[in-house]
Amino acid sequence: MPAMTINGREAPARATFDVINPSTGSVHAQAPDATPEQLDEAMGSASEAFRTWRRDEAFRIEKMLELSQAMMTAVPEFAADLAAENGKPFDMGGMEGMVAATWLDYYANLELPREILRDDDGARVEVLRKPMGVVAAIAPWNIPIGLAFWKIAPALRAGNTVVVKPSPYTPLSTLRFGEIARDILPPGVLNVVTGGDDLGKRMVSHPIPRKVSFTGSVASGKHVAVAAAADLKRVTLELGGNDPAIVLDDANVAEIAQGLFWTAFFNNGQGCCLTKRVYVPERLHDDLVDALADVARSVTVGDPLQREDVQLGPLATSFQRERVAGLVEDALSHGGKAVVGGKPVHGAGFFYEPTVLTGVDDGVRIVDEEQFGPALPVVTYRDLDDALARANAGTYGLGASVWTSDLQRGAEVASEIDAGSTWINTHAALAPEVPFGGHGWSGVGVENGPWGLYGFTDIQVVHSNRGVPGPGAL
Ligand code: NAD
Repeated sequence: MPAMTINGREAPARATFDVINPSTGSVHAQAPDATPEQLDEAMGSASEAFRTWRRDEAFRIEKMLELSQAMMTAVPEFAADLAAENGKPFDMGGMEGMVAATWLDYYANLELPREILRDDDGARVEVLRKPMGVVAAIAPWNIPIGLAFWKIAPALRAGNTVVVKPSPYTPLSTLRFGEIARDILPPGVLNVVTGGDDLGKRMVSHPIPRKVSFTGSVASGKHVAVAAAADLKRVTLELGGNDPAIVLDDANVAEIAQGLFWTAFFNNGQGCCLTKRVYVPERLHDDLVDALADVARSVTVGDPLQREDVQLGPLATSFQRERVAGLVEDALSHGGKAVVGGKPVHGAGFFYEPTVLTGVDDGVRIVDEEQFGPALPVVTYRDLDDALARANAGTYGLGASVWTSDLQRGAEVASEIDAGSTWINTHAALAPEVPFGGHGWSGVGVENGPWGLYGFTDIQVVHSNRGVPGPGAL
């Protein structure tokens, strides 16, 4: 069984839990369930390591670049872990290792800003960004390694130390990067603990961390915010989304269908900022639905450990498949039609047919809620005001896209949508230097770019009075 990493060492498991292979529904492995004492040890070692890790910027950069290389080398191992614990096709699992390497590399090379606000005969006033201390990083199951490194890379660069917890559905890939880091980072700088939601709760209420960086559902995010507030811990929350894609009346359906399809079905629809509902003018509706359905029919669904050509694996958990199945059944009972798909794939694994739904409208759950699965509703709209009102309805505001032959018009429409990221003729285009965060219930704070780094720092002003020593004026 892979072990947790605490204080730079392998931490023996005192309790365990099952890891299920979603392609078979059977137990694939055991993972350690961190005890309260082990969490204390991890937090304590991170706190101790912070005393020195924060001091030497050049050393941090060197170690992060080393870790980046090691993560890249381990891409095939991550791909195998993620295929087994998460049902991801190998290329997608491998991509996660590359995301980790890329983010480490980007942040290692990003300058920590030192802003001088004033430098004259009277005074020198400088603004520094200081690390906060220990960061509790909590990740979801849909992109386990990639999203963990959106936190780890900027946190380490700023001089913090980290205790990271993956979802209990995907512990193996995270345990593996803990092993890799053991040989590279000083003890305590990056600790990996595994366990269920209770472990996450204990991390947030633990007295040591000063910052909680959480990616997951809105429901859990609200609990995290409340628990963190008790100790005035800083939080970054990356939560759910119900991203609209608005197809404008000038769009070329044949040209956009394939791309639009994959912005919804990437990772089997299990992504925070994927297209979750499509709005299309009446005139283009039938053509678009037919074209999307054609792509859906062409997709190879299967167990990535059995077939190399798999494009979509199973859903990650049986619960997630039941949720998607329930939302589709609800849509069908409200007059919706599955043009393609519409039901689970028979068998032991958690497979679900790629599904395109029509005949549904706002007010039906699959349009209003985050489905997080391979079922896409296509909804008609009357005019642009109508489309924008629907796109902006609800409590989410993560991403949105506009599909058009006129990029300028697309950008104008996109600017009317209330979301943290808006894209034209693409969706979920993410990069280490581009900030990413949600409006409304989709989150608090942002990740990535310098903004993501600032989220792991406190501001410190250093004011040197060059005049007569004494009080400063307000
Ligand atoms: P989840 O909220 O159930 O769990 C996420 C993580 O939090 C897990 O590690 C879990 O063990 C832990 N956790 C659960 N309750 C907790 C609590 N009260 N305190 C502390 N930790 C707790 O989410 P999930 O099902 O793993 O992930 C899917 C959700 O994540 C979707 O809603 C998706 O949109 C969202 N997500 C958001 C982003 C983003 O960047 N905005 C990215 C990916 C996923």
